[in-house]
Amino acid sequence: MFTLGIDIGSASSKAVILEDGVRITAGRAVQAGTGSSGPQQVMEELFAQCGLTRDDIARVAATGYGRYGMTWADNQVSEITCHAKGVNFLFPQARTILDIGGQDAKAISISGTGRVLSFFMNEKCAAGTGRFLEVMSRILDIPLSGMGERDALGQDGVEVSSTCTVFAESAVVSLLSQGVEKNDILRGVHNSVVSRAVGLLFRTPMEPEFVFTGGVAQNTGVVRAMERELKRPVLVSGQAQLTGAIGAALMAWEGLKKE
Ligand code: ADP
Repeated sequence: MFTLGIDIGSASSKAVILEDGVRITAGRAVQAGTGSSGPQQVMEELFAQCGLTRDDIARVAATGYGRYGMTWADNQVSEITCHAKGVNFLFPQARTILDIGGQDAKAISISGTGRVLSFFMNEKCAAGTGRFLEVMSRILDIPLSGMGERDALGQDGVEVSSTCTVFAESAVVSLLSQGVEKNDILRGVHNSVVSRAVGLLFRTPMEPEFVFTGGVAQNTGVVRAMERELKRPVLVSGQAQLTGAIGAALMAWEGLKKE
């Protein structure tokens, strides 16, 4: 039986179809979130990818900031619960999660069965989130998908404020006008995101098996900056941006089993 998890965030729409709660049949992400055509587009692309239709889906769970807009879903589930479930599916050994999405960052501590033990969240400020990176991508004229590669060509040493996106934006414009190498500025930008987001982790029990999720985990520059800062390897799935949608599809499967 197939279940569907849909995760509508501020920056992107993600959807995953799971077979019998164990196999990922299809997964898509569209870089347009709540209040846009992203949710409809991701569903069209998802069904086109696997050849299934809505009638093949036994149950649907929605998560993310825009989950209540998905009125056709059977139920709505919190993002924290879905991230915990999704990580437990991808990395059963993991106990600590850092999720960086479009407009927030969360540190989550989970049990061996994927139950949330505690979490901390930054949702008040764009610094340390994907939004900060979107602003920097525009100023530096480097696409989000190319930031990891360009970071690898840069050197450490440029400081970029992690306290405020507006200050950081004018500081980066000023660095550019002084002729500072773009790749070096990008290193500073990635270090800044990490120093802000990692602050959340110090409030969570930090277990050795540590997973980085969310759209920002696709940026290998941020992953390397995190490994430098934490002095440990960071687990990242090729499906990092789909983690919440995977968790939602698992919640739908659990709901089906209870029925
Ligand atoms: P949300 O769930 O809040 O909508 P996501 O978890 O999808 O957000 O993360 C969105 C962020 O992911 C963007 O703000 C951007 O910084 C980053 N991102 C999106 N696509 C890419 C990509 N191809 N490479 C690197 N970073 C990306």
